Amino acid sequence: MGEKLEQLKTHLYRPLDLNYAAAVLGWDQQVFMPPQGTEARANQLATLSGMAHEIFTSEKTARLLEAAEGEVAGLDYDSDEASLVRVTRRNFDLQTKIPTELVVRHSQATSKGFTAWQQARAASDYAQFQDNLAEIMDISRERAEYLGYVDHPYDALLNQFETGMKAAQVETLFTALKTGLAPLVQAIAAADPIDESFLEKREYDLERQWDFTMLLLRDMGYDFQRGRQDKAPHPFTTNFSSQDVRVTTRLIKNRPHSAFFSSLHEGGHALYEQGSPQKFDRTPLAGGATLGLHESQSRMWENQVGRSIPFWEHYFPIMRAFFPEQLADVAFEPFYRAINVVKPDLIRVEADEVTYNMHIFVRFELEKDLLTGALKVADVPEAWNAKYREYLGITPPDDAQGCLQDVHWSSGLVGYFPTYTLGNLIAAQLYAQAQQDLPGLEAGFARAEFAPLLNWTREKIHHHGTKFTAPELLQRELGQEISAQPLLDYLWARYGAIYHLK
Ligand code: ZN
Repeated sequence: MGEKLEQLKTHLYRPLDLNYAAAVLGWDQQVFMPPQGTEARANQLATLSGMAHEIFTSEKTARLLEAAEGEVAGLDYDSDEASLVRVTRRNFDLQTKIPTELVVRHSQATSKGFTAWQQARAASDYAQFQDNLAEIMDISRERAEYLGYVDHPYDALLNQFETGMKAAQVETLFTALKTGLAPLVQAIAAADPIDESFLEKREYDLERQWDFTMLLLRDMGYDFQRGRQDKAPHPFTTNFSSQDVRVTTRLIKNRPHSAFFSSLHEGGHALYEQGSPQKFDRTPLAGGATLGLHESQSRMWENQVGRSIPFWEHYFPIMRAFFPEQLADVAFEPFYRAINVVKPDLIRVEADEVTYNMHIFVRFELEKDLLTGALKVADVPEAWNAKYREYLGITPPDDAQGCLQDVHWSSGLVGYFPTYTLGNLIAAQLYAQAQQDLPGLEAGFARAEFAPLLNWTREKIHHHGTKFTAPELLQRELGQEISAQPLLDYLWARYGAIYHLK
């Protein structure tokens, strides 16, 4: 490695270490911190991330980066050296294009906005949040102008979370998905409902649920020497290097499968981070590349793997041994169908995998119109409810269960939602390829053999760290563009069987 690049790398240790230290505090905040710790913790987090931002956006970084760019010019695009400089440049531009004045206004608007949103949601009164949302949308529009775009201001915002994707591409993908999903949702709505009473009406001991999630994590290849699981009200994954990757789960008495799928989901995120090469630790190349790619890993373990028949052929007998009183009278098929019920619901985070993407379409379409001004902030509840009627056939009874349900807008995360659906699309594409490359893959699940899939994702995805964008990675490893068909094929096959559709 050249001298200039070495200097840049060493310089970046400080902002990276500060951010990882802030992440430890953030993890503690959500897992262990007593409620009264909030204020002091917010100050500590602001100090650490402020310091990291200051160092990263400094003149010194600009100088070292430019020098390193000269040194790696002509090196292979894929090389560690060129990639490190390229990724650093991208992050640097994203963080320095926005003037400090706007960063400050953004942080004030979102901290006020978050409080207003919490109160508005508690009172189910959109009017209490409306002015805050208007301000956040104004700032988002300004932000897009500073970041720059060619076709649509949404492109600039989306690019912060999913490098290289544009609103028009997302729209094409979503239209294809929508068209293919609508008849599936209708066919399921017309099918005989599935009986879930043995889940909903019985209590499943929380400690045993916990033990079962630990077993799942171990079996899927999550390394407890480099991680741990804890409980959190909103499950998440975080990491402080590839050697310390932590997951959380949530236990509910009459929804044991919720904890299992949650641990599989977060476990999928964690395998990605644990699979990041150790040589990338403490550099911008460490970890997962984009939000969509990250979500592809979590959704693949949760859905493609965790909802397959062979998977439950292995785990259902084990689960019965964990919960003999609750499941003694339940046979395999009714159990398998009950944990895979499809039901249009008002709340995104509780949606099944068939209707989940509908929730994303609603938010994407509203965000785009809000950004251009085609939709007035005052008209959001009405527009939201109309879209829920259109896509899911249900009308929210109030704003708390409607347009106030998600935290994202109050936090200034405009342009973020599409990454959830992109993750679902990519998961289906990767899994279809893995099935071709690994004969007998699913038969192995019935023996709890997950190493072939894990090793495949290590090689195709994880070992690249953050080098490539999602479109680059798919082109390189699968020779494909992101597309909707594999997800549609997967959903029709799986739910056609579960709902006995003709
Ligand atoms: Zn996730």
